[in-house]
Amino acid sequence: MGKQAGGQCDTALHAQTGAQLLPADAATESRPASDTGSAGVKRTPSHLSPAGLVTIDPAEYLVEVDLAYAGSNNFVCLPIYAADAPCMLRADAAACLKRAALAARRAGLSLKILDAYRPPAAQEVLWRICPDPAYVADPAQGSNHSRGVAVDVTLLGDDGTALDMGTGFDDMRELSHHDRPDLPAAVQRNRHLLLGIMLQAGFVSLPTEWWHYELPGASAYPLLDEAGVLLIDRRL
Ligand SMILES: [Zn+2]
Repeated sequence: MGKQAGGQCDTALHAQTGAQLLPADAATESRPASDTGSAGVKRTPSHLSPAGLVTIDPAEYLVEVDLAYAGSNNFVCLPIYAADAPCMLRADAAACLKRAALAARRAGLSLKILDAYRPPAAQEVLWRICPDPAYVADPAQGSNHSRGVAVDVTLLGDDGTALDMGTGFDDMRELSHHDRPDLPAAVQRNRHLLLGIMLQAGFVSLPTEWWHYELPGASAYPLLDEAGVLLIDRRL
């Protein structure tokens, strides 16, 4: 399918998003990160979910959380997550996020999280709607969001307004790529601010999406199936 700007609903896209797009029983690797004792009993630390994820509490992490896929303000114009889906990451990614959030605060800014852990079943839905590997990871390979080590973010100014990044989140155009010479100076500065904050905190960037950051070597982490973050079942 063609690229389309984030936040702009397409009628044809809506027409596609019926029951036929539902994730079948996605064959996903489900390997909880928790240790297993000699007796085969899981030993998940109490602050971790069953899959080994930590919940990003906005007050603790000093971030705003607004998961785009828990509502309709995303490129599929439909909620993919449950409305109350928690924002979750692996502990090592959460530690980097905390460093990034503190760095943003020191600069008089704050981070707004648009996506974090994404269940593999949600990835199946996105792939069925947009099977373009330039923008959506093939579920057969798995998204680094489903590994709990990727986060989509933007920056808020001291008045809580999002800084101008030139395009919206999930805008699948080349204008969303890093290192664009055809964007205004203010947008260049804002993107570099976000890039610097996230890189110094330990994340790496993706060339095609100014909002996406992940841990180095992300694909080596196992895919996680966290029941508590599941999407609305569109087969009903
Ligand atoms: Zn992302």
